Amino acid sequence: MLLGSHVSNNGVKMLLGSVEEAISYGANCFMIYTGAPQNTFRKNVNQMNIDKMHAALKEANISLEHIIVHCPYIVNLAQQDTEKFSFAVDFLTKEVIMTTAIGAKIMVLHPGAHVGSGSEAGVKRIAEGINYIIQNTYDSDVIIAIETMAGKGTECGRTFQEIKAIIDMVEDKSRIGVCLDTCHINDAGYDLVNNYDGVFKEFDDVIGFDYLKVIHVNDSKNPLSSHKDRHENIGFGTIGFETLSKVIYDERFASIPKILETPYVTSPISKDLVYPPYKHEIAMIKAKTFDENLKELIVFDYEN
Ligand code: FE
Ligand code: FE
Ligand code: ZN
Repeated sequence: MLLGSHVSNNGVKMLLGSVEEAISYGANCFMIYTGAPQNTFRKNVNQMNIDKMHAALKEANISLEHIIVHCPYIVNLAQQDTEKFSFAVDFLTKEVIMTTAIGAKIMVLHPGAHVGSGSEAGVKRIAEGINYIIQNTYDSDVIIAIETMAGKGTECGRTFQEIKAIIDMVEDKSRIGVCLDTCHINDAGYDLVNNYDGVFKEFDDVIGFDYLKVIHVNDSKNPLSSHKDRHENIGFGTIGFETLSKVIYDERFASIPKILETPYVTSPISKDLVYPPYKHEIAMIKAKTFDENLKELIVFDYEN
């Protein structure tokens, strides 16, 4: 089973710190941003500590194939504005170059929001942008995995059909894939709880499991079809522990990295004290039993 979480990549240690953090959670795969997810300021590639990262991965027996890079979520490939669109293409080209330098093989991308032009125009624009990015990085083998979205506002990629439409327009199919986010598909209207087999059959029929490269395992704070996108800790949301465990232990996804992006737990002492839930969530998933006191336990462990 490949199970890990989003980890940080900052300070002096950069990617070496990312590996150490993942190991401390008992993870065997993980996901990083190349810098802050909400902006496009990036450090130079030689400040990333890539050699030390590779040595640490080797020692921990974690494969580079199981390291995921996530693009910042503020770049929007779906818009018609020429200047903003070319900024997005340029920035994402640099992200592929960085991902290639890191040695990772999969880069997760939010498809973008059409901001009023309609989803068909948005989807076309996204594919156009991805084609440029792939052409700009023709000597890379990094796969761009487009993420299934909750359908907040004018977000594209809320249905499997929209994701498939993007894939269809991408010229080099060896460089395109999909990241399925359980919270997002729940919020988009795919009922994993009551129709688990049906949802994945639809995914396979419409897109095809061959394109599935990453799964983001998150519970949701909101009900089915809410189009909200607010993640909840495993077992504490509307999807629940049983269904999320089913995804994690599904034999068909055994070789696919499964990444937790669940929220940090806030201390009752102060809302400025927050703790990563990943070590405890991974342990709980491995134990196969939901612990309703998990959040209290996380706070206790970090404060004692
Ligand atoms: Fe994402
Ligand atoms: Fe996600
Ligand atoms: Zn999300």
